[in-house]
Amino acid sequence: MNESRHGKGFPRTKLGRQVSEGAVSIDDIFKSGKKIKESEIVARLIPNLQTDIILVGGSPGKGGGSRRTPTRRTARMHRSGRRYRASAMVLVGDGEGHLGIGKAASKENKLAMDKALEQAKLSIIPIKRGCGSWECSCGGDHSIPVETQGKSGSVRVILIPAPKGIGLCANDEAKKLLRLAGIRDVWTKCFGQSRSRINYTTAVFDALRKMNQMKERAEEKPKDDDL
Ligand SMILES: [Zn+2]
Repeated sequence: MNESRHGKGFPRTKLGRQVSEGAVSIDDIFKSGKKIKESEIVARLIPNLQTDIILVGGSPGKGGGSRRTPTRRTARMHRSGRRYRASAMVLVGDGEGHLGIGKAASKENKLAMDKALEQAKLSIIPIKRGCGSWECSCGGDHSIPVETQGKSGSVRVILIPAPKGIGLCANDEAKKLLRLAGIRDVWTKCFGQSRSRINYTTAVFDALRKMNQMKERAEEKPKDDDL
């Protein structure tokens, strides 16, 4: 299936043709609300795209603690033994306000990772950055403009704007996500089972995405009712 898709070459959609002609930028696509159906579009428009992997899997190691692995292996029973399935979670971002997250499962580790990467590219969204911290209020874009919440499964995450120099107060997986989004200072609060990495990571992404739905106060012009 993959081979035949690759055989067709890059611009297969109208949007893809426009991109290969250099007619649109990534922000044009976000503004128009068009859906990206070819990962090559993202690769072309964001050349400095970086990838990171969420360690979703793990196996209990010696002496307590567990060894984290990039893929999670689950088993279902069959009359001739266990059948395994690997799932992976991959992030893409440019460190400048664009972030995508992909999750996929397959029989093989490598295939799961490839599929997740493809999905991550297709799911890329703009991330609002700013400085919503009253301690700082420098007007830069090192943090987020407002407090925001995200949810996935039982996990609820709150992201709070932090002043410059605080860094990312989050666990390692959330740090990967925030770093790729280009956020440098933020506080996080988490409720529920934050051990479940997939839900936790999805909740952080959800929180970042929700900022796009908010109206930005700074953009609204102040009314001169007093005059
Ligand atoms: Zn600031």
